[in-house]
Amino acid sequence: MDPRAASDRPAVVVVGGGIAALELVLALHDLAPGRVRVTMIAPEPEFVLRPLDVARPFTRGHADRLDLAGFMGEHDGRFRRTAVTGVDAERRTVRCSTGADEPYDVLVVAVGATARPAFGHSLTFGSDLLAVGGLLADLEEGYSQSVAFVVPVGCTWTLPVYELALMTAQDVWGMDVHDVQLHLVTPERVPLEAFGEEAGAAVAELLVAAGITLHAGVRADVTRNNHVDLGDGRDLHVERIVALPILDGPRVAGLPSDAQGFLPVDRFGSVVGVDGVWAAGDATTNPVKQGGLACLQADAVATCIASHAGGHVSPMPYVPELRGRLLTGHGDRFLRRGPGETGRSEADDRPLWWPPSKVSGHYLSPYLEARGLVHLPVREDRRTAGIDVQLRPG
Ligand SMILES: Cc1cc2nc3c(=O)[nH]c(=O)nc-3n(C[C@H](O)[C@H](O)[C@H](O)COP(=O)(O)OP(=O)(O)OC[C@H]3O[C@@H](n4cnc5c(N)ncnc54)[C@H](O)[C@@H]3O)c2cc1C
Repeated sequence: MDPRAASDRPAVVVVGGGIAALELVLALHDLAPGRVRVTMIAPEPEFVLRPLDVARPFTRGHADRLDLAGFMGEHDGRFRRTAVTGVDAERRTVRCSTGADEPYDVLVVAVGATARPAFGHSLTFGSDLLAVGGLLADLEEGYSQSVAFVVPVGCTWTLPVYELALMTAQDVWGMDVHDVQLHLVTPERVPLEAFGEEAGAAVAELLVAAGITLHAGVRADVTRNNHVDLGDGRDLHVERIVALPILDGPRVAGLPSDAQGFLPVDRFGSVVGVDGVWAAGDATTNPVKQGGLACLQADAVATCIASHAGGHVSPMPYVPELRGRLLTGHGDRFLRRGPGETGRSEADDRPLWWPPSKVSGHYLSPYLEARGLVHLPVREDRRTAGIDVQLRPG
C-alpha cells in the first residue's frame, strides 16, 4: 500500500447505492487502498437487498438493509444523500437535486433501471409486494383458483417469476389446496433460456413436478382483465395475472444513451465517447439485467480505475458468467452458464459457487454474508462450490 495525501488522490464519484455501487466500492477498497477518494451519491440512506423480495411474501415481512453512510465510513469514503440530475462531462461535475455540484476526476454511474408495468391488466411483480402476498392468501383461502405468471417480451432476467410460481405451488399444495391451476407464460424457448439447455431442462422438470403448466415461446399480451392473449388466436382465461416489469434505462442528462435510455459501455465499462466516465449494472446496455452480472461489470470498472490510480492490478474486461440461485420452496437449485454462446450450462441442488448467495458478487457476497444479510443453504456444501477468480495477485 502506498497511501497518498488525500488531496493527491483522484476523486471517484459513484452514483447509486445499489448492488453495482457497493461491489465497486468494495473492489476499489481492496484494489486501490489509500489511492482514491470515493464519494457515493444516492437518494436513499439504505441499501435494500431486492432479490429477497421474491421470498418475502412467503416469509411475511423480512427485510435486509444496510446503512450507506456507515458502509462508506467503513471503507474510507463519504456518502452524500441526494439524487443526481445530470452530468457536465466538460467540467467534470455532476448536478444534484439538492446542494452544490459534485466535482469528479472519475465518475461511475450505477443508477440501475426503472421498472414499469408491462401490461395494464396484471399485477407487476417486484413493485407490489402486498398484492402478491394477498394473491397467496386468496389461493390458500379458495377465493382464487387460477393464476398466470407472465414474462413479457423484452424482459431478460426471468428467474424471479419462476421462483414465484414454484414457491406459490409449494405454498398452496402444502396448505392442502388442490383445485388451483398455475400457468407460466414466457417468450423463452425453454425455461430460463439464458442459462442454456441443461439448466432449462432441469427447471422444466421442476415445473412439471410442481404441477405448473408451461407455455413457452409465447409472446403474450394482456389487454383485458383475466385474459392472457397467447397469440395465434389462443387465449388463457385465469382469475389472477402476475407479470414481470419492463425495464427502462435511466437517460442520464449529459451522457449518451441508446433508444431505451441505457448507457453504452465498452467491455471495460467505459461509457463510449466520454472521458473519465464509467458505468455498471442495470443502467448499461448490457442485455441481461442481473445483480451478479452488475457485480462483474463493477469489478471490471474497479480494475481499470485502480490500475490508473497506481494499484497493483491490470485492467480486466467484463466476462459475463451467469449464476442463479432458484428458490423452489423445497430446496434451492443452483444454475450457472459460462461466458459466450457455447458457455457450459449447469444445474445442481448443491452450491456451484461460494458463498452461494442469490446475488453473486466477488466482494459483495462475502461482505453481506459476514453481516448476516445473506441466507445460505447448508454450509457443508462449500467443498462442491467453485473457487472465485482473484482480481489481484495473491
Ligand atoms: C424481484 C427481483 C428479483 C431479483 N432477483 C435477482 C437474483 O436472484 N439474483 C440477481 O443477481 N439479481 C436479481 N435481480 C436483479 C438485480 O436486483 C438487479 O440486476 C440489480 O439490482 C442491479 O444492480 P444496480 O446496482 O445496477 O441497480 P440497483 O440495485 O437498482 O441500484 C440502483 C441505485 O441507484 C440509485 N439511484 C437511482 N437513480 C439515482 C439518481 N438519479 N441519483 C443517484 N442515485 C440514483 C438507487 O437509489 C439505487 O441505490 C432481481 C430483481 C428483482 C426486481
